[in-house]
Amino acid sequence: MVPIQMVDLKRQYTKIKSQVDAAIGEVLDSSAFINGGAVQKFAGELQSYLGVKHVIPCANGTDALQIAMMALGLEPGDEVITPSFTFIATAEVIALLQLKPVFVDVDPQTYCADVAAIEKAITPKTKAIVPVHLYGHVADMEPLMALAAKHNLYVIEDNAQAIGADYTYSDGTKKKAGAIGHIGCTSFFPSKNLGCYGDGGAIFTNDDELAAKIRMVANHGQSARYYHDVVGCNSRLDSVQAAVLRIKLPLLDDYISARRAVADAYDAAFAGIPQITTPHRAPYSYHVFHQYTLQLNGADRNELQKYLAEKEVPAMIYYPVPAHRQKMFEHFGGAAFDLPVTDNLTTKVISLPIHTEMDPDQLEHIIQSVKSFLNNPPT
Ligand SMILES: *Cc1c(COP(=O)(O)O)cnc(C)c1O
Repeated sequence: MVPIQMVDLKRQYTKIKSQVDAAIGEVLDSSAFINGGAVQKFAGELQSYLGVKHVIPCANGTDALQIAMMALGLEPGDEVITPSFTFIATAEVIALLQLKPVFVDVDPQTYCADVAAIEKAITPKTKAIVPVHLYGHVADMEPLMALAAKHNLYVIEDNAQAIGADYTYSDGTKKKAGAIGHIGCTSFFPSKNLGCYGDGGAIFTNDDELAAKIRMVANHGQSARYYHDVVGCNSRLDSVQAAVLRIKLPLLDDYISARRAVADAYDAAFAGIPQITTPHRAPYSYHVFHQYTLQLNGADRNELQKYLAEKEVPAMIYYPVPAHRQKMFEHFGGAAFDLPVTDNLTTKVISLPIHTEMDPDQLEHIIQSVKSFLNNPPT
């Protein structure tokens, strides 16, 4: 059996090596390392894939979130509502810009921000909501957008984990995750569902005016060459990364299907096991399984992680400490936020390997290892 990894980027690369090497070779030959043709072409291709008017590439997903918030012209002290159950970047950039993160609890089934909790957290200072499509499950965007419209708030989707996912509205129409809010942000970190071979990110919007601001902020606040209107930053996707992404974007739907096949196999194997809650799939969300995350009840997930390691099965805890309990947010009274669902989940979740290259024998070994742990719990 091939050694199991959380994500097998090496074997994925092996399958596309000749195209990737040729595309990187072209960039090297052109020596247009920054703002080369591949960057604009990739942006256009991603626009068509997502059905969104503007894609502005940038250096990483954290920058994407930061630039989005800078482009909205938020003022220090403005409140931004976000779930605490997320990767730290979502909340970190809010604080970095001297905005106030207001943490809300998540839905116990979808693990995405609970719309009723968001509504309760709105104050006259609230300016924006940042839903996170955690693990590849799309947050419930239709009621969330309606709530935002009612209170005149911006919505920035953190789509780092759900690129390619569809959201279905109550009337049956579909939109891609990240193309629903005023701005969508994603990351092309290598292990993301659409990953490059270094750092990368992008910002999406359908709003021409916002797109112009985003482009300006991402490029030193420049309106015309060497004329700088606002304080911005320098955040670019380089041409080598864009060339890699141009090879991988047409494969994204196949990659998603491969992930979903692994998730289906896990779901079937773990169905009816009382200690395991398998990932929920709300009818409005086409889950793209960036992670396959179990909730363990009445079994110790740290013991399971240790046991699996002995069987050479990696497993990860995303995330052991929620944002509101991180030291960096102590001065916001972080721990004072009452988020029982989040606190409960952070003690119970464990993510199993899921990727595009999983072999049936690997899958079987993982499943049998989890089952044998539960059948012979440590005493
Ligand atoms: C990965 C990730 C980010 C940050 O992306 P980087 O490219 O690593 O900066 C932000 N939010 C979420 C939810 C993520 O998973």
